[in-house]
Amino acid sequence: MQQYDVLIVGAGHGGAQAAIALRQQKFEGSIAIVGDEPDLPYERPPLSKDYLAGAKEFERLLIRPAAYWEERQIAMLRGRVTLVDAEAHRVTLADGQMLGYGALIWAAGGSARRLGCAGGDLARVHTIRSRADVEKMKAELPQVERTVVIGGGYIGLEAAAVLSKLGKKVVLLEAFDRVLARVAGEPLSRFYEAEHRAHGVDLRTGVTVESILGENGNANGVRLADGTVIPADMVIVGIGITPDVEPLAAAGARVSNGVEVDEYCRTSLPDIYAVGDCAAHHNRFARGALLRLESVQNANDQATTAAKAIAGEAVPYDAVPWFWSDQYDLKLQTVGLSIGYDDAVVRGDPAARSFSIVYLREGRVIALDCVNVPRDYVQGRKLVIEGISADRSVLADAATPLKQLYAAG
Ligand code: FAD
Repeated sequence: MQQYDVLIVGAGHGGAQAAIALRQQKFEGSIAIVGDEPDLPYERPPLSKDYLAGAKEFERLLIRPAAYWEERQIAMLRGRVTLVDAEAHRVTLADGQMLGYGALIWAAGGSARRLGCAGGDLARVHTIRSRADVEKMKAELPQVERTVVIGGGYIGLEAAAVLSKLGKKVVLLEAFDRVLARVAGEPLSRFYEAEHRAHGVDLRTGVTVESILGENGNANGVRLADGTVIPADMVIVGIGITPDVEPLAAAGARVSNGVEVDEYCRTSLPDIYAVGDCAAHHNRFARGALLRLESVQNANDQATTAAKAIAGEAVPYDAVPWFWSDQYDLKLQTVGLSIGYDDAVVRGDPAARSFSIVYLREGRVIALDCVNVPRDYVQGRKLVIEGISADRSVLADAATPLKQLYAAG
């Protein structure tokens, strides 16, 4: 049985960064990453943006070129881990192969949720999580005229933007009464709804999908609960992910919405860490609530936290959350977590397509959503990290740079 000092499960953002950070920490032990995708670690965000649009080559998505991993003696293994034996410090792959480890970093991310309704598994119904998902979509796109996107979260909205730019007819369906309902304040939702409609997307909120209709095994429409049928040559489902933690749960790890980790990304099992989309952690930017974040920032920063702990330089995870989304010519940058805000101030004019929303709780800045205003994003970061109190009239005045509030806090 092959033995590694550190074995990383999942060759995505978190897995790659864990290995990179270990070598940066001068960790000299053996490292292997075992992943179930055929490619070297690549960036996932372009999958619903430039890569779907056909505007980027896959090689440009690689997190590091092949030579990087070879030079640093980071072994890239292919396989899916199905069993973890925490006591024996050993995992088993789907093909029966076993690998031993000193420390295990679980960076398996999550699987795109599929529709539970009738027709959810027909051909031409897609989710967007991996390169393979997008290759399948791209191969079908030349024959596609009418698309239905189910889910008004970031991935659904980004896909809708790309498809409409490619000249496809797009209907976007959202079950809540506004898009981005779980992650942003209402002004941002309304802004993006208006933008999509202005770009020709038929965006419908408060609608429930009853089933996907099909012919010869291929989806050809979506039936809503009110009986409406929307014809479609392709259906894209963006309704979130389920964290991939079954082998850890079966091994006895504490699992709720993801595998629970402490501030050093340690699970409840000995020498097993978890990072990224699959890891439920207490986040100080959400008043210590136990949550999972699905972002490159969180995957990278948690991976670095785990690597440092393994290398003997433990530093608790305390990174400020940030995220971005590209739709049409709009660059959204967010910092902090707006969950639990009690006030939201709009800075600038949404009609001018350049504005920010500052979220407050008890008078303190907890998050910002900045649309085409990189300056607010950069300057607002410190307001969030330090939880600075700010007067709403000052915040609302886009002519006053946010950094003027630093001293006041
Ligand atoms: P992943 O990157 O998903 O990597 C997990 C890897 O583990 C996968 O390769 C998976 O196949 C593999 N795996 C799973 N189970 C096993 C197993 N048992 N054995 C072996 N391998 C396994 N974030 C942003 O910050 N900004 C964005 O704009 C943005 N856009 C996105 C757009 C799309 C379409 C998607 C899908 C995600 C986007 N994200 C974005 C989120 C971001 O990509 C994720 O948060 C990030 O990839 C999480 O990293 P991870 O390492 O936890 O998981």
